[in-house]
Amino acid sequence: MTLCETERKTFSPASFTAKVKIPGPLENLTVASDLLKKFRIEPGAKVELSNIDPRECGNYESHEAAVPEMLSQLHKMDQLQNLMYAERKRSVLVVLQGLDACGKDGVVRHILTGINPAGCRVIAFKQPTAEDLGHDFLWRVHAHAPAKGEVVIFNRSHYEDVLVVRVHQLVPAHVWSKRYDLINELERLLVVENHTTVLKFFLYISKDEQLARFKRRLDDPARRWKISESDYREREFWDDYVQAFQDMLYKTSTLHAPWFAIPSNNKWFRDLAVSQIITRTLEQLEMQLPETAVDLAHIRRRYHAAEVETQASWKPSLACEPGAKRKSCFAETASTVALD
Ligand code: AMP
Ligand code: MG
Repeated sequence: MTLCETERKTFSPASFTAKVKIPGPLENLTVASDLLKKFRIEPGAKVELSNIDPRECGNYESHEAAVPEMLSQLHKMDQLQNLMYAERKRSVLVVLQGLDACGKDGVVRHILTGINPAGCRVIAFKQPTAEDLGHDFLWRVHAHAPAKGEVVIFNRSHYEDVLVVRVHQLVPAHVWSKRYDLINELERLLVVENHTTVLKFFLYISKDEQLARFKRRLDDPARRWKISESDYREREFWDDYVQAFQDMLYKTSTLHAPWFAIPSNNKWFRDLAVSQIITRTLEQLEMQLPETAVDLAHIRRRYHAAEVETQASWKPSLACEPGAKRKSCFAETASTVALD
């Protein structure tokens, strides 16, 4: 058992920051390894999942040792997303796939601790509705693609149509087998036409880790709501899913929309790898704050006029007298606003 396998504690930034000394400004932290290159599936590369160790945790000795890096990534992600929101020229689509209990929800929670939810949407794809099934399989997906300035996270996605649909033969092979190219085309459209950065994460857990997580759901009353019969049913198709995932990675990891196969037995490492890859990619976009559209000289004159007026009408006695004149303070403010 590796050192990091013993670190199964749930990540709690508060408890860790209390214990861990964060070196210098977070921005200047050096990255221990470049997980972006390491886990990217090169276009056209055949993938054997048995060659990937789901227990891997990079060069980090433990969860605790990775905390400064994790906080640094969250901090950077916040800044970069703010920039993208202000710039409104491009967008990000994060796609999460993996077997049941692989941690898709956990990754969503982790990413959202790093960014402003106002600029982000999370879409969870369930079984298609009757209306969805009346259309092509990409219809329900395209409607949720991110607008410029937005980050959208897909918790499951159009890839279910070459995964669960293939494993359970919900449509004939000649139908699902054409879908890889159609998916690549849709993603190319998003990239070329709407400047969307598409990042796809396959969260890879081992079969014994999945069972351990099912057990935790049984033992822990707070997790029991997650238990579903279908988790056990799908587990029986493990090998078929492995085949379907391998083909998916091989046929749809492209230059414009790459897949990353993330070793996910260790939750903290999974979160760290995903946030590092998102951050690194956003940094490469070299986004710029937009120029202001207003006449700055004119706005400065208005600001100074407002400042002079505020100082002239400011009556400290009203504000400082304990309790007494609150009402008049508000009246004063209201009339100032009205006059302006
Ligand atoms: P969960 O993510 O655990 O809430 O489960 C959602 C369920 O919806 C999973 O069993 C998925 O396999 C299923 N699902 C999602 N997309 C599709 C699809 N296109 N066709 C069939 N089942 C789907
Ligand atoms: Mg589930």
